[in-house]
Amino acid sequence: MNGALPLAGRVALVTGASRGIGRAIASRLAADGADVGIVARSADALAATRADIEAKGRRCFVLPLDVADGAAVTEAVKKFAADAGRLDILVNNAGVTKDGLLMRMSDEDWDTVLDVDLKGVFHFCRAAARPLAKSPAGRIVNVSSIVGMIGNAGQSNYAAAKAGLFGFTRSLAKELAGRKVTANVVCPGFIETDMTAGLPDAMKTQSLGQIPLGRFGAGDDIANVVAFLCSDGAGYVTGSVLPVDGGLAIGGFGG
Ligand code: NAD
Repeated sequence: MNGALPLAGRVALVTGASRGIGRAIASRLAADGADVGIVARSADALAATRADIEAKGRRCFVLPLDVADGAAVTEAVKKFAADAGRLDILVNNAGVTKDGLLMRMSDEDWDTVLDVDLKGVFHFCRAAARPLAKSPAGRIVNVSSIVGMIGNAGQSNYAAAKAGLFGFTRSLAKELAGRKVTANVVCPGFIETDMTAGLPDAMKTQSLGQIPLGRFGAGDDIANVVAFLCSDGAGYVTGSVLPVDGGLAIGGFGG
């Protein structure tokens, strides 16, 4: 019925899928033919994404958990892969910020961001590696940030976690290449979601001035690239770190 779709018959798992970029990714993978498992801390928060996926005629599996809880992730991924029958695609998108200047940063704010944004990705990759290795075209896409590349005052915890994903993912790319599993990183720039909605207008105006393409990104800008990396056409791409930022990382001057 959906044989022409690029991800027909595949099963994907997307973390942080209740809203923003993760919701856009989950909906796009479903539109491309995949059944999708979706992760956030509560099932209620995932209801709208579930409706998006089921409206496209795909199966949806809801996994309410905290990505920082390694035991919960291991158990839930095992059950999900068994219920869905396979696992082909893992997109680690869940993330949080706890901004503050270094001199005032608490241990708690450091640990929260590292536990969710970096260790949470480790938890899911470890739990998913075996089922992904059985897929004919396993895919891992980790959502980092250009802040991991260029840094940002007030985000040393977030930058450390997001940069940590580069080395982590490249190591996975090498470990899993023999199983035909690719592992790549996408680095969003400034994307309009709840995460950025609360930033001061002055900061938004300043950021906009640094984006050569002259606009903030949308969730779909990231979902388009993730969908490509999950497709058969990206089978020779692994270990890459790809900015999707309207050129923000290269700066806004010149031209
Ligand atoms: P968002 O705050 O709108 O959504 C974050 C998602 O992660 C939600 O679904 C939330 O429920 C989930 N989540 C957070 N902590 C969790 C936890 N402990 N366990 C389970 N789920 C959890 O954020 P967004 O803007 O859509 O960002 C998505 C990803 O993209 C994040 O990793 C973020 O760091 C990254 N990113 C965003 C931007 C941007 O400009 N919005 C830029 C660069 C990178």
